[in-house]
Amino acid sequence: MNLSKKDKKYIWHPFTQMKNSDPSIIIEKGKGSILIDEKGNKYIDAISSWWVNLHGHSHPYIAEKVFAQMQKLEHVLFAGFSHAPAIELCEKLSKHLPKNQAKFFFSGDGSSAVEIALKMSIQYWKNKQKNKPRFIALDGAYHGETFGAMSAGSRSIFSAPFSELLFECTHIPFPKDEALAIKRLKAEIAKNDVAAFIFEPLVQGASGMRMYKPSTLNKLMNICKKQGVLCIADEVMTGFGRTGTSFAVNQVETEPDFICMSKGLSGGTLPISLTTCSQSIYDAFLGEDLQKAFLHGHSFTGNPIGCVAAIASIELLEKKECQQALDNISKSHEAFAKKINSIEIIKEIRQTGTILAIELKAKIGGYTSSIKQKIYNYALNNGVLLRPLGNVIYILPPYCIKEKELKKIYKVVDQMLKDL
Ligand code: PMP
Repeated sequence: MNLSKKDKKYIWHPFTQMKNSDPSIIIEKGKGSILIDEKGNKYIDAISSWWVNLHGHSHPYIAEKVFAQMQKLEHVLFAGFSHAPAIELCEKLSKHLPKNQAKFFFSGDGSSAVEIALKMSIQYWKNKQKNKPRFIALDGAYHGETFGAMSAGSRSIFSAPFSELLFECTHIPFPKDEALAIKRLKAEIAKNDVAAFIFEPLVQGASGMRMYKPSTLNKLMNICKKQGVLCIADEVMTGFGRTGTSFAVNQVETEPDFICMSKGLSGGTLPISLTTCSQSIYDAFLGEDLQKAFLHGHSFTGNPIGCVAAIASIELLEKKECQQALDNISKSHEAFAKKINSIEIIKEIRQTGTILAIELKAKIGGYTSSIKQKIYNYALNNGVLLRPLGNVIYILPPYCIKEKELKKIYKVVDQMLKDL
């Protein structure tokens, strides 16, 4: 039995209707921006494999660091014990974060990082003898797959089977209309029961790479700060250079109380995540009473191999060449956006840093849009991995992408837009 058939026999894939799904493409190797399947077909990974891969696949520097760490210490429990890779990682990261971020809590994926920020927000107020059980988020929000993260996200076909079990979160209008979002935010905060406002800063990923201005985010956060509502920046997608700065909140004056990060944290090599917070959040959990502590943890919390991968990835990110690459990608996107601007089928083109989104005038929008599959197949047949979000095509490449690879992506997208 070939691998594809065995895959069908054993494996239940995410976000997939297994009854009618095509056989999985078996990837054998990854090198830089290229994925190579078992038959030798090559695909340019134009979406960084679900937005995780920063420096290309199988990066030799990260691989070397991971291998060395595995021979030294692969894992140790993280309560009562610590290790140099975790400490060094936090020290390194703190130079990229807003100055108020003082404490680092580890977990293993983006949803858990969000879950932790939500739990910390609730308990922060409980520890201060206040009951604030409600959250505010933005329309179209996506924060992950666990129950808390799903509750914070906009309701959709993903969360529909669980709707009765999700806790209360009020979704205010997406701040493209800034005045309307501000009005609703103020009205909700006035009810005095809001623990925190959670948001994807500057770019909402899963809802179709929807973008809004730093000045708008700053206003929303400022209102929260003034009214005693905590701010949770979910940087799981936007972190590590995607929006042009290390973190999207670096473009905003007001500092968030929490930042959630994962995906690019290890350069996309290993599952690891962090929830960072300010000193005043941390201080609210201190006391003689164990009940006041944050009694939460995961088996793989602070995994040393994940930590060294993250350190190596940040070292690569800090290099001049990488910063130059971010700039080049951003400029190439801009030029391509101009070139395709007048194509009839396009409704809107948006860009923030290395993220380029092309929204089509499709009749059926949303995740289930039929155009999505057509685009996916077209691109794949032309050696490019794209995974549109409904009628939104986006390009979010690894930073190591070569100029000729980026040009090939543009060429395929351009031709596809004309052929569709
Ligand atoms: N938050 C955001 C903004 C995300 O984009 C995602 C994943 N796409 C998550 C949280 C959840 O992360 P994970 O898939 O690692 O659980």
